[in-house]
Amino acid sequence: MEHDQAHDDRAGRAAHGVDWASLGPIDLHAHSRESDGTDAPGDVVRAAAAAGLGAIALTDHDTVSGWVEATEAAHETGVALIPGVEFSSQIGSASVHVLGYLLDPEADAFIGERERIRVERIERAERMVHAIGRDYPLTWRHVEEHSAPGATIGRPHIADALVTLGIVADRSAAFEGILHWQGGYYHPHHAPEPEAAIGIIKDAGGVSVLAHPAARGAPVMRMGVLGDLVGAGLDGVEVWHRDNDEASRRRLLRDAELMGLLVTGSSDYHGRGKPNVLGEHTTEPAVLAEIVRRATGWAPVLPA
Ligand code: AMP
Ligand code: FE
Ligand code: FE
Ligand code: ZN
Repeated sequence: MEHDQAHDDRAGRAAHGVDWASLGPIDLHAHSRESDGTDAPGDVVRAAAAAGLGAIALTDHDTVSGWVEATEAAHETGVALIPGVEFSSQIGSASVHVLGYLLDPEADAFIGERERIRVERIERAERMVHAIGRDYPLTWRHVEEHSAPGATIGRPHIADALVTLGIVADRSAAFEGILHWQGGYYHPHHAPEPEAAIGIIKDAGGVSVLAHPAARGAPVMRMGVLGDLVGAGLDGVEVWHRDNDEASRRRLLRDAELMGLLVTGSSDYHGRGKPNVLGEHTTEPAVLAEIVRRATGWAPVLPA
């Protein structure tokens, strides 16, 4: 009985009566320093409040470690919090990101896969640092100094170390040169196929949305791929994102209509790590209401 009650709370029966339209703008994609953002999780929520947002999703790469602190900040500020994750997946050697919302962080397959990705990301970053270290005075220590304890390690942390060492001007310059996949130092890391990531999110009671589908190489814009992902249970596509160009947005909107997908919009805020500003793109209240309606894994954190 106790467990059933806990599950009822987590699955957010209380959330169904919420008037999402009355809360304020909704931004469903943001990072903290638990992955490659620069703000603490609570500060992401406080920044969302300061920006006048009504709801913010915390979607760190391959981790849920910021949820507790973000939840406290949501209670403190009155901003609604949608706990989430941005799952790393890949098609061939191309990276594909799948957002998962309101999923159960204790679901076995979700725990297993995110830990595997996080461990193999560290090994991969060590390989890249070792290679870069042959040509530049970069060591693993420098990368550790630029990442919070336990954070999901990625190229942005290597970039920050390179900036501090004066080797590049900023993260963007690092990504255009040394850290570029054709820059001579790139190593891939393990990631599941997007169908598997979608399945893990679904099995954990969550709702899946394809992040920035037209960004960087855009493997999911290839003919037929989106249909396959819908077949695997994909719920939605992030159409309104700065990395999707105008033509891709039009095509995604058409495909979303045809395939019955939810359409979201978000900033992909990374603190000082990227120019993306909280609330620069937003999601319709009716779409968030539908995400909350479908989710059974975890409850949104609502204003009192
Ligand atoms: P990784 O997952 O370690 O291969 O690194 C990819 C991450 O780097 C993504 O999550 C992006 O947020 C970030 N990223 C990609 N390009 C840039 C850029 N030009 N400037 C800053 N961050 C970037
Ligand atoms: Fe990122
Ligand atoms: Fe992403
Ligand atoms: Zn992101």
